[in-house]
Formats: sequence, structure tokens, C-alpha cells
Amino acid sequence: MPRLSARLHALPPYPLAHIPARKRALLAAGVDVIDLGAGDADLAPPADAIAALERAIAEPAMHRYGFGVGFVPFREAIARYMRERFGVPVDPMQEIVPLIGSKEGLAHVASAFLQPGDVAVVPDPAYAAYVGGTLLADASPHVLRLEAKHDFLVELDTLPADMLERTRVVYLNYPNNPTGAIAPRAYLERTVRTCVERDILLVFDNAYAEFGFDGYVPPSIFEVEGAREVAIEFHSLSKTFNMTGWRCGWAVARPEIAGALARVKSFIDTGTFLPVQAAGAAALDARAHFVPGNLAVFRERRDAAVAAFAAAGFEVVAPRSTMYLWIPLPEGLGSADFADRLREEQGVIVMPGVGFGAGGEGYFRVSFIQSPDRTAEAARRAGLVLTDLLAAARPVLSAS
Ligand code: PMP
Repeated sequence: MPRLSARLHALPPYPLAHIPARKRALLAAGVDVIDLGAGDADLAPPADAIAALERAIAEPAMHRYGFGVGFVPFREAIARYMRERFGVPVDPMQEIVPLIGSKEGLAHVASAFLQPGDVAVVPDPAYAAYVGGTLLADASPHVLRLEAKHDFLVELDTLPADMLERTRVVYLNYPNNPTGAIAPRAYLERTVRTCVERDILLVFDNAYAEFGFDGYVPPSIFEVEGAREVAIEFHSLSKTFNMTGWRCGWAVARPEIAGALARVKSFIDTGTFLPVQAAGAAALDARAHFVPGNLAVFRERRDAAVAAFAAAGFEVVAPRSTMYLWIPLPEGLGSADFADRLREEQGVIVMPGVGFGAGGEGYFRVSFIQSPDRTAEAARRAGLVLTDLLAAARPVLSAS
């Protein structure tokens, strides 16, 4: 066996990689599985996107390499979106990097800005690409706990001075997966200020930019003064348009920052399939008539999930964004134990908080990816497992 690299050894196991196999085994055994695990909705993409893909795929020129430039009308549609939606002007050719899903960009950007000895601040719990990208760049992740008592915000001024000194990159994700937290404007302003003062790259993961409920409208980091100097913002078609499998997203930043990511990628990939980019342009242009209806479906599911999990005995806060409930477990119940029992005994798949990092322990995550009825049934079954675990834990807890 050829020797594995130290950086490979440094990677933690990818969270919850075993769940798809367990799901298949349960289905094969005839279990009525309800999957509320991944953020991967069962809904259809915009019809315009599918039609655009069909048109594009009939053209021989669209089967050639996209290279870094990709499909120019996709860049132009992104620039229109950024301007119309956030009031942020961007140069379509210089300030946009088309991505094969935002995940690879979030991971690759680390290679452009980090070197051994550097620190990247990553939230915990968080999406795994931030830690992964940092470790693959031979740099050191410094995890900051997201805590309910601090509204799940990453506060850079809580870092020890020497750590802040070494910090070259900070990963922020608001609206936040998995906690559902949103970032107040004043928070974004003070974080941008710190990054400008210290020349830290602010990686702003805006995958849930279109998931605002109850009047909340998620911002772009570029709405904050000074952000253009130091920020790169990541967007995705995955959640907004139910297009997770298409692998299509983009990053926005000033030319020097965008160019650095594009340069890393030029040695690694050759772009998303052009017809997918054509579909991406069509999806973005269909936003005004697609997003409100799609969001209404998610809001209905959110409301159903909140009501059902509360009725089942859980402590639930309705999030104003994202497609997740982040539910605390009673003291002493492990999230992996809870999720394993719920899956194996009741056929319900949820994400144990610990799958997003040690800081997620004590929580589990529910995705709004099933109908209200199925979600309610899942919550009922979760309540049964909770009752069982609490009954089993009580003698131990009271004896200690
Ligand atoms: N960021 C966050 C916070 C996510 O939850 C996800 C997907 N679950 C992504 C980025 C990546 O999305 P994609 O690669 O599909 O664009």
C-alpha cells in the first residue's frame, strides 16, 4: 500500500457517510423509512431550468469544455441576480467564479489563501467543507463553538490574541446550517471591520440566501461597508432551486480574490457542464416566479415540523431561515445514540448534532424535505424514542 499523506490522516471521517447504506438496508428490510437527514429536498427544479438544459444539450458546442470562463450568459444572469436581489454590482467576467456546486469552491478557496502555520476560523457545528478545505491546504482550523446563548454567532474578539494574529481566513455561514441562526446587521458590520483591520479573508457561505421566513430577507455580505475589500461570498442553486444534484454554484469577490480561487481551480477542474450552466441562468432568471411558491412549501413544512416536534416533547424554536430545525436533546442524551436508535428502531433518519462537529453534541437536525404529514409521523416516532431513552436514563441520572 503506497503511503498516505499526513494531510489525509488529518482529515476527520466524513460525517455520517454510513447513513445511505443503512437507509438502503432498512428499505430492503421493508421498513417505512422517513428520511429527514440531508438538506436535499424532494421538490422539482424550475421548469425553465429543465427546458434550458434540454435546449442546450441539443447543441454540439455545449458539449465542449467549459473551462474557467464557462457559459457567459450564466455569469450575466448571476450579475443580474446580485444587482437586483442585493443591490450589489458585480463585473460578470472579473468578479464571478462559476463553481461545480459551492462545496468545492468553499474547500478550494482555502488553498489560495492559507499555508502551513496559518489559521482558519471555522464554526462548530458547521458544514464539513470548511475544516476539510483548511486541512487540505495544510493549515490549522481553529473551531469556535456556536452556542444558543450567543445566538450561534462566531465572535472573532473571543479568540486569543496569538490565534487572531495567525488567522488568515474566517468561514461564516448565515443563514446557518445546522442551527438555523441568522446574522444581525450589526454583527456582520463588526466582523467585516475586524477582517478589514487584520486583512483576513472573510468567506461568507450564503447557500441559504433565499430561505427567509416571516418577512426575513437574508443579506449579501457585500451589503456591508468594507466587505468588498476582504470577502468572498458563495452561492448555490442547490437549495434555492431544488437542484442539489446538478452541482452548480458560484462565488463573488473582487477580481484579485475571485482570480485567486479561479487560478486554483484551473489546475483542478474544467468547469461545470455547459448545459447545466445554461439551466442555472434560466433558474436565476425564473427566480421571481419560482422562489416565492417554493418557499411557501418550505414554510408550511417548517410550521408542521415545529408543531409536530413540540407536540412530541421536544424543545423547538422556529427558525426564520434555512430548511432545518436544530433541536436540543435533554441533558445527558447523546446525539449519535439518539439518531441511531431513531433510525434503527423507528426508521426515521435525522442528523445527530455531533456529525457537524463536537460543538453540535446535544442536538439533532431535522430537514424540511418531506411533506407535513410524513414529517409529523417522523416526529411522533421521535417522541417514542425520546420517551424510551429518558425512561432508561432516569435511574442513572438520579443515582449520580
Ligand atoms: N454550504 C452549506 C452551509 C450547505 O449546507 C451546503 C449543502 N448542504 C453547501 C454549502 C453546499 O452546497 P452545494 O455544493 O450543493 O452548492
